[in-house]
Amino acid sequence: MPYTIKNNPSPAPNLQALLEETMHQCDHLARRDHDPVGRVWEYTDAEDREIVALFASGLAYGQVRVLREAISEALAPLGDRPAHTLRQLSPEELGALWPAFTYRMTRGEDLADLACAIARTLQREGSLRALYLAGAAGRREVATPTDHLEAASHFVRALRARRMRPELARGFRYLLPDPADGSTCKRLHLFFRWMSRGPDGIDLGLWPELRPGALVMPLDTHTSRLCRYLGLLTRKTLDARAALEVSQALARFDAKDPLKYDFALCHLGIGRRCIHRRSEEHCPGCPIEAACTL
Ligand code: SF4
Repeated sequence: MPYTIKNNPSPAPNLQALLEETMHQCDHLARRDHDPVGRVWEYTDAEDREIVALFASGLAYGQVRVLREAISEALAPLGDRPAHTLRQLSPEELGALWPAFTYRMTRGEDLADLACAIARTLQREGSLRALYLAGAAGRREVATPTDHLEAASHFVRALRARRMRPELARGFRYLLPDPADGSTCKRLHLFFRWMSRGPDGIDLGLWPELRPGALVMPLDTHTSRLCRYLGLLTRKTLDARAALEVSQALARFDAKDPLKYDFALCHLGIGRRCIHRRSEEHCPGCPIEAACTL
């Protein structure tokens, strides 16, 4: 169903209060079981969570129930201690872990590339966090989106260079997109949100050096539509600049934590509250209805 934006809206004056209400109405812990991040919380060790988060965010596309199954299938060969497993196995052994895995754009070979890249990072820098910080040009903290995007691109390019296969396969590039390419990189920015914010039961707060104020909105088709309805996004193309526009619009409400509404907004769609057209069934009681211009 096509949608229209009325009168090129600017955000409603009460939008911040409505977003706060949306966040408070969202049962975060219950919704975690319907979100890829739920898989990450099944692990307790920080270095395992980093690794699981990179796998889970990379596969966080498609229908939630199906993608959560794909994440479980991808993680199963790594056992209860993925970091330990990755340190123990040779590249050849890693390459044989997912002989039959397939999930839409992603094949077992792409997972093996990712596993090999992480294993080599564990050997060289010791952790994914250390690799990220190595790209932060000596900063003790990353506090702006510009600095974060630079470090994020370094992080991705380093991981890509440590893959197993000689060629940079399309499926592996999709699993690990480079922000410098200009796309929204929704799943990669989701990973960074998980690492930076919290811990709050959703985001894990494992990388305190990456300040939440530097994060970029993990913008996808669904959240971009909601942001348009709310006057947070005017750019027509869904790309990196659109993600930055939304991030900057949200930073006007809270510059230190602009993404704090992201989970609740995202779950307005995952929970089938918003079906992207006005509906007598879905709109009444929607926490952002008073600001929705659809
Ligand atoms: S008011 Fe209706 S169309 Fe607007 S965001 Fe809420 S559910 Fe979606």
